[in-house]
Amino acid sequence: MRAAVISDIHANLHALTAVLEELDSERPDTIWCLGDIIGYGPRPNECCQLVRERVDLSLVGNHDLVVLGDVDVNEFNPEAGRAVEWTQRVLDEESKAFLAGLEPRATVGDVELYHGSPRNAVWEYVLDAEAIQAAFSHSEAPIVLIGHSHIPIVAQLTDGEVLAKHAPEGVESEVDDGRLLLNPGSVGQPRDGDPHAAWLLLDLEAGRATFRRTEYDVERTQREIREAGLPEALAERLGFGI
Ligand code: ZN
Repeated sequence: MRAAVISDIHANLHALTAVLEELDSERPDTIWCLGDIIGYGPRPNECCQLVRERVDLSLVGNHDLVVLGDVDVNEFNPEAGRAVEWTQRVLDEESKAFLAGLEPRATVGDVELYHGSPRNAVWEYVLDAEAIQAAFSHSEAPIVLIGHSHIPIVAQLTDGEVLAKHAPEGVESEVDDGRLLLNPGSVGQPRDGDPHAAWLLLDLEAGRATFRRTEYDVERTQREIREAGLPEALAERLGFGI
């Protein structure tokens, strides 16, 4: 089975559309989303609708939960907070009902999926050695998928040793005898210096993960952010992938 893994769309419709178009030709057997469908970006309803139609399994992320009112907005910085209030005003009932039905974790066969981490499925960022070790020790599956940090990473656990690295476009990882922790990066707000939409192609039979990037119309999303009156910094960062 080949699974495409996307995460952290953040209401960036043009990034999501570009990735889905690439998936039309890639034809994976299934599409999984690790959460944060909305928040920050200008097209939350359209992104919820597309995820509902095209994604086979989606998790819920901290931004989705904050917009639903399930988590305190004071956890966020002021820009994210303003985006939350804007999103709460425009989000339609269908999208709310869809997001309210999602969980922050799932298991599919030999794969565990979390928005944050196995230790804290909603909030934990897995970026340092301690968090990566904990992610392995709090899970069991050969392959563990996480989102939330917007940084594509791959970590391999072999004989108790962890080898972790940033995973820019084109990186390929083999499952071999160890276990893999994979973050596909972010579709709608990449933060690793590459503005292209990030996603992951997982070939479960071959035991191979390939990190992918897709170009999209960044300026169009930036224009929509400004037209919506969302914070200017949220538009600017998309141009740099930060
Ligand atoms: Zn996010």
